[in-house]
Amino acid sequence: MTWSSIFLGGAALQRCGFGPLSGGFSPRDDGPISRRWFLAFLVALIALSSATAQTHTPIHYTITLTSPTEHFVQVAIAIPPGASQRDLQLPVWNATYQIRDFAEYVLWLRARTLAGTPLPTRKLNKSRWQIEGLAQGGLVEYEVLADQPGPFGAQLNSEHAFFNLAEILMYPTDARDAPMSVQFAAVPNAWRLASPLPEDHGELQAANYDALVDSPVELSKFQESSFIENGGHYRIVVHAAPDLCDLPRLTDTLRKIVRAETAWMQDRPFQNYLFLFHFPLERGDGGMEHSYSTAIELSASSLESDPGQLAAMVAHEFFHVWNVKRIRPQTLAPVDYTKENYTRALWFSEGVTSTVEQYALLQSRLIDERVFLRNLSGEISTLQNRPAHLTQSAEESSLDAWLEKYPQYRQPGRSISYYNKGFILGILLDLAMRKASGDEASLQELFQYLNQTYARKEKFFDDSEGIRKAAEAISGADLTLFFRKYVAGTEEIPYDDFLAWVGLRVVTREKTVSDPGFRAVRNFDAAPVVVYVAPGSTAASAGLIPGDTLLALEGTPVPRDFEARIAGRPIGEMLHVRVRAATGAERDLMWKLGAAKTLDYEVAEVVNPTLQQLLHRRNWLSVREAKVPHAQVSHALEPGTGGGTGETAPQPRVISTNRTQWREIAAKGPGNIAHSASCGWHVGERPAPVGRKISCDTVSRILARTRLMPAPENPQSTEYKTFAAKESQP
Ligand SMILES: [Zn+2]
Ligand SMILES: [Zn+2]
Repeated sequence: MTWSSIFLGGAALQRCGFGPLSGGFSPRDDGPISRRWFLAFLVALIALSSATAQTHTPIHYTITLTSPTEHFVQVAIAIPPGASQRDLQLPVWNATYQIRDFAEYVLWLRARTLAGTPLPTRKLNKSRWQIEGLAQGGLVEYEVLADQPGPFGAQLNSEHAFFNLAEILMYPTDARDAPMSVQFAAVPNAWRLASPLPEDHGELQAANYDALVDSPVELSKFQESSFIENGGHYRIVVHAAPDLCDLPRLTDTLRKIVRAETAWMQDRPFQNYLFLFHFPLERGDGGMEHSYSTAIELSASSLESDPGQLAAMVAHEFFHVWNVKRIRPQTLAPVDYTKENYTRALWFSEGVTSTVEQYALLQSRLIDERVFLRNLSGEISTLQNRPAHLTQSAEESSLDAWLEKYPQYRQPGRSISYYNKGFILGILLDLAMRKASGDEASLQELFQYLNQTYARKEKFFDDSEGIRKAAEAISGADLTLFFRKYVAGTEEIPYDDFLAWVGLRVVTREKTVSDPGFRAVRNFDAAPVVVYVAPGSTAASAGLIPGDTLLALEGTPVPRDFEARIAGRPIGEMLHVRVRAATGAERDLMWKLGAAKTLDYEVAEVVNPTLQQLLHRRNWLSVREAKVPHAQVSHALEPGTGGGTGETAPQPRVISTNRTQWREIAAKGPGNIAHSASCGWHVGERPAPVGRKISCDTVSRILARTRLMPAPENPQSTEYKTFAAKESQP
C-alpha cells in the first residue's frame, strides 16, 4: 500500500464523482435474500450429497445494497450443514497494518434455520459471534454501515459501492479455507461490477476467504479500458468524472510500467490483472495492493499538481504483485484477522517496493536519472531530519506500524517511516551487492531469487534474516554489519561509502525555510492533527493548540503535502488556517510564517569520477535493452544439459571470460555462445571466474551490456578517450 511514503502521501476521503443515481430502490426485508439463499442452499445440499472427498462445503454470501443514501449494506451468509455451534469472525484489520475494528459498523446480527426458526446468537468478543443450532445449516444476517471511503475502505453511496470485503464479510472460523461465493442484490440497473475474482452468472467465486477478501469490488457507472501485454490481460476501471481521466494516456502509462516490472522480474504470476482507479475532485490519495488487482485513489488536485505521482503509485502497487503478496515474510503468513500481525519486515515489503518503483519508472522512461537522484536526495533529507532516525530502527518502525494511527507516534522525534528508511536501504543494499559482485548481483537478482526460492514454492522468507541470507547467497557479500547497523540498528548511515561505487556522494547544505510554528500529522483517512506548537511562536500567539484538527489551509482542504507547500512559501507571509478544537468548535486563525533552519541532503557526483565509477553508474541506472529470452540464454549457456531441446536449465554457468570474444560471439546471436565453451568473457573492468553459477537473467544483462559505453558525463576525460579508442579497434 502507499499512503505515507514521501512520493505518495497520506490518503484521505472523497467520493467518486458521478451525478445522483437514477434507478432508485428501497430498503428491503429478507425476502429476496431468503429466496436466493434457498437456491444456493439447495445447490450446496446437492453438492454435499454427491461429494466424495470434499473437505469444505462452499459458503455463500449475499450482499444487499440496502440503502445507498444511508450507506446501509445487508449481508446474508448461508451456512451449510455441519457443526451445530459455529463462530463467525469479522476481521479487526485488513491489509493496512492498523487495527481498525470493522465491527464498529455492525448494526445488528441474527440467525435462523432454513425453516425460519430464530437461532440463539451470542457475542464472544468485539468482533466474534457464536451461533447455536446450525447442524442442519442456517442463515446468518447482519447489517453494516458502509461509509468508509478510499482504497482502504468499504463504502456504499448514491454514486458507487466500493468494498474491501474483509470490512463487511464475517467468516466461519472453522471454514476459512472453504470455497466462497458472493452475489450482490438491489444493485442499481446502470451499475456494473468490477472485481479480480472470476464471475459465474453474476456470482463472484473465490477459493477461500483469504482470496475473497484480497479482491476489491467496485459497483458503479465506471469507464473501462484494457490491454494485453506479453500474454497477460489487464483491465482498467476508472470511476471518476469523465474529464478527470485521459483513459488512452493512462493505459499507455500502465502498459509501460507493467512491461518494465514483468521484464525486471522475468515473471508474470497471473493471467488477469485489474487496475481500479478513483479520481475524486479534492482529497483522497492512496493505493492498496492485492494479488490480482490494485485499488488506487488520487485526487484531481494531486493529479494536477504532481502528475508523476500516479505513475509512481501504480509502479509501487503493481510491484506488490511480487513483494508482499507473493514474496511474503513468514510473520505475515497466515494472516491473523483477530489481532496485530507483528512483523519486522515492512522496511523490505513496503520500503524496498518503493525502491523498485523508482527503478521501474526509470526503466520505463517515465522519469530520468536526474529525477531519480532528486527523489533519492529527498528521501535521505527526510530520514536525516527526523531525530528518531537515531532511536528507532527500520525493524522497530515495522513492528510499530500498528501505532501509526496515533498522532503522537508520528512525531519526528518519536518515529521514522519504514517506507522512507526502507527505500534508502533498498538502494544501499543494491549498491552493496553490486560492489561485492562486480555488478553481477543486484537488487533485481535478489528479487528474482526470492521469487524462485519462496514465492514460486509458496514458502515464506524469514523476515530480515531471510533477506540477508538471500542477498549474501547471490552476491557473495558479507552483510552481517549492514543488517546489524542499519536494519536492526540505528547507526548513522555512511552514505558516501555506498554511493562511491557509482561515483556519487551526499552534499549537505543548511537551508532556511518558512516555519509555520507547529507540527501536524495525519493518519491515512483523517485530517491532520496538530501535535506540537512551538512555544513563543506566531502560531502559539494566534491561538493554535495541540489537538486542533486542520480543516482548511487558505480556504481549501489541507493538501497531502501541506508541510512542503508551507515550507516553500516566503518567510513573513500570512497563513490562514481553519481548525476544529478537540471540543468540536471550529475557528479561523491567521499568523505570520516564521523561519527555520533545516539540512538539505543532495546526492551529487564526486569530484573527477573514474571510468569505473561511471560504468557502474551506467549499469545501475541505464535503461536496459530488451533481454535475450530466458530459454535461449539457458540453451546457449548449457551446451551439455538441455542444449538442442530448448529446456531451461536452472543454474547456467559462465563459460566465457574474454570480453572481446564474448562480444563477437554475442554479435552472432546467442545461439552461437554454446560453441564457445573454451572462451572467456569480461564485463566492465572485472573478469568473472569461469564456472561461477549465475542466473539466466544476469547473463541476459551481460549480453545487453556488450553494447556498453561509459556514461557521457565526462567525455573529455583521459579515461574515456582511452576507453573509446580501445573500443573502436577492430
Ligand atoms: Zn505498498
Ligand atoms: Zn467507485
